[in-house]
Amino acid sequence: MTSENQQVLLPILSEKKITLCLKREDLIHPFISGNKYRKLKYNLETAEKKGFKTLLTFGGAYSNHIAATAYAAQKNGFKSIGVIRGEELQNQWETNPTLQFAHRCGMQLQFVSRTAYREKTQPEFLDELRAVYGDFYLIPEGGTNLAAVKGCEEIITAKDTDFDLVCACVGTGGTIAGIIKAAHTGQQVLGFPALKGDFLKEDIRSFVARENWSLQSDYHFGGYAKVDEPLIRFINDFKQKTGIPLDPVYTGKMLYGILDLVKKDFFVPKTRILAIHTGGLQGITGMNIKLKKKKLPQINL
Ligand SMILES: *Cc1c(COP(=O)(O)O)cnc(C)c1O
Repeated sequence: MTSENQQVLLPILSEKKITLCLKREDLIHPFISGNKYRKLKYNLETAEKKGFKTLLTFGGAYSNHIAATAYAAQKNGFKSIGVIRGEELQNQWETNPTLQFAHRCGMQLQFVSRTAYREKTQPEFLDELRAVYGDFYLIPEGGTNLAAVKGCEEIITAKDTDFDLVCACVGTGGTIAGIIKAAHTGQQVLGFPALKGDFLKEDIRSFVARENWSLQSDYHFGGYAKVDEPLIRFINDFKQKTGIPLDPVYTGKMLYGILDLVKKDFFVPKTRILAIHTGGLQGITGMNIKLKKKKLPQINL
């Protein structure tokens, strides 16, 4: 599975002599984030090889990973269980587009309190889940493990040698770890964390030993899934000018960051940048419901 690189044409880019291409991993599937699909690939293979019939994973109410796991499980003949953060969703999940989609894919949803959710890596909690659901192949929150990193190495291909810099969004760090491993000689990788926190560097280092990367931590917009009006306006404006939709949790923040850095002459002229569009577009409908409640503008679909 390979995706196309599409050049972004904007006046600021030609003015600063920067080439920017987007790797359209979002086009791999209309509802599933490209990178989540790649993260699942070798996990599904392993689960099947080991004879598991059920996949179990964790996520929040708008999680791209939950949607992707539900879909991939159904497509590959597994049962799936999603342990979802937030007991209060028990009675209102049907108004949540992500959980609705997961349910339609046959995922069994188990809602747990935020306190219980924090225990999700504890053996006792997993044993309790096994007592209820039987044996399962466990996929961690966000889908990041070694098999996931291996899948994400396939994002970078032989035709990507022309770029000086590869930019990627960072949630748990699994995707960028794969990209760092697969980057060509002389290429640098720049990550844009979607959340606050210094732990990410260590997490990424636990998967890769290379030194060809750094993080740009100024564009998380207050934290994970936090958005403000300038970000929404940027996403709508970018779509209008380029035809490319961005999501508000990951890719919108990264592109805002890249173009802001271009404006500030952070990149030397003639730099050729490849930014990975990891998808996440399934989350826009759910985000728009939240934005409406907060009287913020909508993200145009
Ligand atoms: C999950 C996700 C990411 C982050 O991936 P990690 O491997 O967790 O760092 C980036 N972009 C999109 C659209 C995602 O859904």
